[in-house]
Amino acid sequence: MTNSQTLQFSVQSLDGSARAGKLTFRNAEGPRKDALHGGADSDTSCITILTPVFMPVGTQATVKAIAQPDLVEIGYQLILGNTYHLYLRPGSDLIDGFGGIHKFMAWPHAVLTDSGGYQAFSLSDNVKLTDEGVKFRSHLDGSEHYFTPANTMRIEREIGADIIMPIDDCAPFPADDKRLKESLVRTHRWLAECKTAWLRDPRHQSLFGISQGGINPGLRADSAKAVADLELPGYAIGGLSVGEPLEHFVPALGSAIEHLPKDKPRYVMGVGSIPELINGVELGVDMFDCVLPTRNARNGQVFTSYGKVNLRNEKHARSAEPIDPLCGCKVCKTYALGYIRHLHKQGEILGLMLSTYHNLYFMFHFMRQMREAITARQFAAFKQKWLPLFS
Ligand SMILES: [Zn+2]
Repeated sequence: MTNSQTLQFSVQSLDGSARAGKLTFRNAEGPRKDALHGGADSDTSCITILTPVFMPVGTQATVKAIAQPDLVEIGYQLILGNTYHLYLRPGSDLIDGFGGIHKFMAWPHAVLTDSGGYQAFSLSDNVKLTDEGVKFRSHLDGSEHYFTPANTMRIEREIGADIIMPIDDCAPFPADDKRLKESLVRTHRWLAECKTAWLRDPRHQSLFGISQGGINPGLRADSAKAVADLELPGYAIGGLSVGEPLEHFVPALGSAIEHLPKDKPRYVMGVGSIPELINGVELGVDMFDCVLPTRNARNGQVFTSYGKVNLRNEKHARSAEPIDPLCGCKVCKTYALGYIRHLHKQGEILGLMLSTYHNLYFMFHFMRQMREAITARQFAAFKQKWLPLFS
């Protein structure tokens, strides 16, 4: 049995290829007000997310330096969890014992988990890639593990996110065409195996396909076609934003999108710099995730309506102004830039919390403004205004 009714997507308006859409989760595990507020609510089984959407990354079942009610307060309804990390610690079976990740972390909305393949390659020791899967040693204690398509689907079922990603072979950048072709064969084969394993027990979960192809537009097109043939609830473009310049990012992404179905959500994995977001939305991407706004915030770099600001800069020491006078967030309404700078300079935890809240608030409203620009058919003007501030 398929659960194609669980996730629904519709495009509401178009400006060129840029699209404003609506992602609706039905019978999802995520939208449970009782996770935060106690008590059942009969109207909590449906959640609607306006796209384009940015998903904050909650690697260890926590978006670093911000609590769940603050994410809800900003407006976030969909966050990411990392399968590799959650599988190793605390263990997907332990999360299953809590009734899934939503209950475990008291998150009342939707969650997406990646497959863990990317981290298995990049973080673990003694990685061995075969046609069957990825063998690796934990970066924590050296223990041996094996991610196969069937395994990752089982682990992601235990974690219990609403959108689950298949294991894929993400070739490093730069990679030659031989390596990229090899990655396509493996990625497509693993996706078909993931689909079979997912359909055995789909529950509330929706499996997305991942296409690869590096910065080769022809291979990007081939991969998108092959993945689209599998008729899944949504489609991702992986292996971008891995160090390639924007002039390669745009044509590679464009080639993939051209061959993905128009009526399904499109997700570019690990992408979240402002120029990539603007270009991605312009090409027709609906979903993004990235550690950038939260990691930058912890390093003292904040996004504002006048570009990036380094909080630690000496020139802000006596500033009684907010981080961004045009920002409506509670941090900007309450605290002076000079005070937040002081917290960062002293390594105070509150400094990380305040700058993280501001950056995630900025990102949420930046995406909302892109959506409004699409609806008003003003996306070109939006791009012209914002791109120079972050280039
Ligand atoms: Zn703010």
